[in-house]
Amino acid sequence: MAAEILTPGHAIGYPVPLYSYRRRFTREVGFGGISLGGYQPIRVESMTNTHTMDTAATVEQCRRLYEAGCEIIRLTVPTEKDAANLRDIRDQLRRDGITTPLVADIHFSPKAAMKAVEFVENIRVNPGNYATGAKFSSDDYTDAEYLGELEKVREEFTPLVRKAKELGVSMRIGTNHGSLSDRIVSRFGNSPEGMVEAALEFARICEEEEYFDLLFSMKSSNVRVMIHAYRMLVARADAELRHAYPLHLGVTEAGDGDEGRIKSAMGIGALLEDGLGDTIRVSLTEDPVNEVPVGFAIVRKYNEQLQVKGEKAYLKVNRVVEHGKAVAGHDAMPFDPYHHSRRRSIRIEAGAEPLGGDAMPRVETSARTSIADPDALRAEILERLSPELPAESIRSEYVNVGVGCVEDLPELEGLLDSLGRLRDRIVASTADTMLFPRLLPLVSRARLDIVEGEILGTGFIDDLGDGGAAMEFSFIHEHSSVTVPAEVLTRIAEKLRRNGLSRVSLSVVSPQGLFATRRLVLELAKAGLDVPVVVRYRDRGIDRSGVLIDSAVQAGTLFCDGIGDLVAIETGLQGEEEVGLAFNILQAARVRMSKTEFISCPGCGRTYFELEKTTALIKQRVSHLKGLKVGIMGCIVNGPGEMADADFGYVGSGKGRVSLYVGRDCVEENMPEDQALERLIELIRQSGKWVDPS
Ligand code: SF4
Repeated sequence: MAAEILTPGHAIGYPVPLYSYRRRFTREVGFGGISLGGYQPIRVESMTNTHTMDTAATVEQCRRLYEAGCEIIRLTVPTEKDAANLRDIRDQLRRDGITTPLVADIHFSPKAAMKAVEFVENIRVNPGNYATGAKFSSDDYTDAEYLGELEKVREEFTPLVRKAKELGVSMRIGTNHGSLSDRIVSRFGNSPEGMVEAALEFARICEEEEYFDLLFSMKSSNVRVMIHAYRMLVARADAELRHAYPLHLGVTEAGDGDEGRIKSAMGIGALLEDGLGDTIRVSLTEDPVNEVPVGFAIVRKYNEQLQVKGEKAYLKVNRVVEHGKAVAGHDAMPFDPYHHSRRRSIRIEAGAEPLGGDAMPRVETSARTSIADPDALRAEILERLSPELPAESIRSEYVNVGVGCVEDLPELEGLLDSLGRLRDRIVASTADTMLFPRLLPLVSRARLDIVEGEILGTGFIDDLGDGGAAMEFSFIHEHSSVTVPAEVLTRIAEKLRRNGLSRVSLSVVSPQGLFATRRLVLELAKAGLDVPVVVRYRDRGIDRSGVLIDSAVQAGTLFCDGIGDLVAIETGLQGEEEVGLAFNILQAARVRMSKTEFISCPGCGRTYFELEKTTALIKQRVSHLKGLKVGIMGCIVNGPGEMADADFGYVGSGKGRVSLYVGRDCVEENMPEDQALERLIELIRQSGKWVDPS
């Protein structure tokens, strides 16, 4: 079973380089005093969660966002009245010297849009519900009905386009997974394909009106759906439309805390690494001010490349993709950029857990204590493995122990003996090729770090026998452009074929592990090697928040791309935190669900209950339910659609009122808020998905 290489002609092609960073060059679009796209830095946006009719509260929150450095502020505009009030909000802000561009967020109401456009720098419309709503019916549309509804959209939308053009206001066509129109769903399903077509329908109308101040977004609470939709949009829009329009990136309903940050960083970062994205919003169920530093932390690396290298470097960075029309970058793809499918690999026995094949991706962390202090090391290993917890709990499944020299071997043997059956969960690693064969009889998994300059000196592979242990060869690169030489892979393939080595996995450690691992996977496919791939993330001394973001991007993107059989995290974080990070990465990529998935919106002017507090209460009661998806949404207008594939929904439906959903069905309408949590738990029990917390 050889791994598959997708050719450049696969599906609709993907005009983006996959092995190095090159930003897609887009049309520059104005936002009042600033612009985005082109050579502009990637901008950071946030959104108020006050009621837009409450001028004082909204102005105050805008001021706090401005002081936090927020570059674009979005406000929800549910009605014409809210739209009219934007004038007061804007005037007050300008009087206070706050010139941050404002965006009006419109759902459903063309009348609100026609008013709001007079007072803001950008207007966002959702093609899923502008002028036509979603009833979540499964009715089929005849061609005539489909075209008739599209014509209605054109009639409602064209006046807004003309007015925005006349006023010099830019527009975001912002599609959301889960709030697509019934018409689109009837033809394309609730899918990335549908999201893309919904956006293109609106963009075509804009271009017919010679209005080009556009940008797009394709948000979803499902990171993989979001990545696929943006990629597909770029391929289709750049092939069809007259300009390469900028992209606003975001994961909707990402939640709060570490989970929300990891989910957002993974979705946004995966696309930024592809060179896509001109503005972002990190959407957290927290004070919106908290979103701003996370946003800047995500874009810093990409913006620094622009700022440090200067104008000429901009051109160099961007030369591959001219105005979005790809002239290069049609790399062979080791994965499908538009759909998730796991890379095929053989299953190997590797100690306590199998790797590869259909085994779920496993978790490894690294002990920080030296083997020279065996008692402390044993205590740290036990803390990470937490053997007292039930099977499949959030705990490390392997712990890496570094072995530096031959004198460490007796200590290692003593340690393994003292661990009893847990010895099968120890990975002994070394960078010493002479020491490596001596580890093999002692452990069930051993790793050899092969540093960049020594990669070609791997003749020792020829001399290796099976030795009893599963082996991982980890190639350590200082530069992401370097890949594992084909001759090394050929040598490993030969050994496997001759059956001298039977249980091998490979990994690459690089400052840009994403690109380096993709290269490895491509080379493996060329060499016909279907060994498991370990996604190994090693941080370089960055702070905690930097580690969360960088690991989510570098390791998480690979799992979203279907690459990886084990995630190995080596950071300066404490044991429990490091283990939590690894599981959060797998959960956000939806390749291993180890706890309840919360899809909670950030709240906005439509929210009439304390979203943060309620989310915390619900989490307290149900977060032990592995694999369950619970939506906690601020409003009945958009919540049911935007919680997408949640199993259960807790949706605000007015002051002190909540509606409860099972899947897409509303089973409790407008019930008192103080009874809603207990009823939600009852519904989970009735569905058979409840287990008592241990
Ligand atoms: S779902 Fe949440 S963020 Fe979206 S419109 Fe409703 S309250 Fe606002």
